Amino acid sequence: MRWPSTEAADNHWPRRGWFRRAAMKTVARVRWVTCAPSRIRSVSIFRAKVASFSSVKVSVRFYGTRGSRPVVGPDHAEFGGDTAFVVIEAGGEPVFLDLGTGMDAYARRLEAGQLVRASVLLSHYHFDHVQGLPFFTAVDVEGARLRIFTPGGPDPLERLFAPPFFPVSPLRFRGEISVARVEEGRLELEASRVEVLALEVPHTNTAFGYRIEAGGISICYIPDHQAPCGLDFFDEKALRLAEGADLVIHDAQYSEVEFAAKCHWGHSTYGYAAALAHQAGAKHVVLFHHDPSRTDSDLLEVEKGLAARYAPLGLRVTAARQGGMILLSDEHAAAAGAL
Ligand SMILES: [Zn+2]
Ligand SMILES: [Zn+2]
Repeated sequence: MRWPSTEAADNHWPRRGWFRRAAMKTVARVRWVTCAPSRIRSVSIFRAKVASFSSVKVSVRFYGTRGSRPVVGPDHAEFGGDTAFVVIEAGGEPVFLDLGTGMDAYARRLEAGQLVRASVLLSHYHFDHVQGLPFFTAVDVEGARLRIFTPGGPDPLERLFAPPFFPVSPLRFRGEISVARVEEGRLELEASRVEVLALEVPHTNTAFGYRIEAGGISICYIPDHQAPCGLDFFDEKALRLAEGADLVIHDAQYSEVEFAAKCHWGHSTYGYAAALAHQAGAKHVVLFHHDPSRTDSDLLEVEKGLAARYAPLGLRVTAARQGGMILLSDEHAAAAGAL
């Protein structure tokens, strides 16, 4: 496994427009549900507000980049074979984006005795986005905590990780795992020092995209997104999530040839991912949720072609590499680091 790629990006905060207005006005309603074995209870409602952090630095680390199912082998050494798991850190507790098999690589990096306390923005329940959770024993420890936000609440996880499909529910780990049904709107993850805009995007089943903000930095995460079969328009909510973002992490599963045969399978082409980010005025798009059939050499070619096409238009295009990190700073002091 290579852990080579470090990337940096400049930042630009959209100081005008819909997103700023919405940030000032919108109240997010989040119903908390605590998944203790025997009871479910509502806990609180968050009110969104605009945070003002100074000199914020945000790291985005890719532990799982693959879509649909994990793959292994020398053809996937650079871009990775584990499914969706990305970690954002903005000075507080980490934010996990999805719970795919990339969680295992994250767990291996933990130091002995290190307690995991994190918020999770779960896009949806398809296997490739949750399969890492039942094996993430770092939460089977007193004092560990995961706060999972999902569009569907706790029931699907309870059903998915239960006999005869799986012997043990991770919701009964010794650490505290709570699951909140997130609705469209804004929520504040105070412990993680970020604010989030959650909106539903087209997919085969209900799926959310998220926009994560810390200070003047904005990151859009849309891992699974059904593009229109004609690839001829952009979903309004996807554009809102990506508007002026410093970084857009977007579904890039298919080539256009593959998409012609699979345009109802819930995904986008890599060309569509770049086009959407450009339309939204984003600065950098990371192609994500690589098709299991896509080899390293395929992805290098895709990346090279789209990067050359969009560089003159002011959009940086790269493909997500498992083990890669992007460090964003609101002081325009882009820096790089390594896992
Ligand atoms: Zn997926
Ligand atoms: Zn999906």
